[in-house]
Amino acid sequence: MSVYVYCVSIGIASRSVKIQVSFPHPAPRVTDQKTAVSLCNENCIRKQGLTCLSAEVHRKNERSSRSGLTADFAEQLKDILECPVCYELLRPPVLQCVNGHSVCVKCRAYLKGKPCPVCKGKMEASRNLVAEALCQRICYPCRYKHCPQSLLLRDLVTHEAGCAYRQYSCPLVTAWHSNGSVTHCSWPLPRCEILGHAEQQHPTQVWRGSKHHVTDYNFTSRFQKFYLISAYDEIFLWGGQYMPKEHKFFGALKFEGPVNKASEYIYTFTLSNSLGRATLKVERTVLTPPFESIFGNESCCVVLDLQTIKRFSQGDKLCFVLQVDSLAGKDE
Ligand SMILES: [Zn+2]
Ligand SMILES: [Zn+2]
Ligand SMILES: [Zn+2]
Ligand SMILES: [Zn+2]
Repeated sequence: MSVYVYCVSIGIASRSVKIQVSFPHPAPRVTDQKTAVSLCNENCIRKQGLTCLSAEVHRKNERSSRSGLTADFAEQLKDILECPVCYELLRPPVLQCVNGHSVCVKCRAYLKGKPCPVCKGKMEASRNLVAEALCQRICYPCRYKHCPQSLLLRDLVTHEAGCAYRQYSCPLVTAWHSNGSVTHCSWPLPRCEILGHAEQQHPTQVWRGSKHHVTDYNFTSRFQKFYLISAYDEIFLWGGQYMPKEHKFFGALKFEGPVNKASEYIYTFTLSNSLGRATLKVERTVLTPPFESIFGNESCCVVLDLQTIKRFSQGDKLCFVLQVDSLAGKDE
């Protein structure tokens, strides 16, 4: 069978990349850039009943089916989608000069009043929509150091919000002061290292497992207590504070994992009096905002008034059970 080989140039900024596509006779006409890009797309090739140059091309297409581009072609695109000012990969919105050279939005602001760094032509306020469309087809590395993930832009924001390598500030306590305030450790580290750090530096503030019997809450003065809970292969942070002036105790369980997984967990706070005859149970959803904002909404946290505290206290102490449950049915 005779095979026709087409070389197609796609020009972006000052550079161009050539892709080579072959067809069995008769060959389709390549009329525009969009067609040239889609010819490299496995779906297009299959739908048109065309044959790839080699089985290897097919395999690469299969591997990168999420972006619709071959791995090699996606890499070549990265070369041409580089901002000529900061050398970072362009991200939408992509702005351009009168001749179509693209710069990122950050560098466009920096170039205010200056000509295009490539051709010295006038910088326009218009966007390069072809470059923006191509940006959606390549994978960008996660912004956090040591994270091996590289994702399409549409998935990157969600990933980065919950990335295990995201910088995190240790929330546990290094000093409790007589006025009830505390000094937080605040040691900076990736979130995936918090458990190891906490077990070494704050072993008395780490709980492993999903159920905890707490017996050390003394309501004679103001206090703040924090515990890191390791359960279901995730990290949670229990925060409790007693405000004597308001005669109120506030408690909540925060989720320290990826934000989109927080809704998979709930917790139950249970108080029983010394005879075990009266029980108070509060069930809440695990949340991700800072404690200050969780405690600002009483329906989102555990709130005990003085009367309840007295009713369930044993001496000056209040004992409770904290249970974390997975709605996704995960076993602990
Ligand atoms: Zn730039
Ligand atoms: Zn230019
Ligand atoms: Zn990441
Ligand atoms: Zn720490």
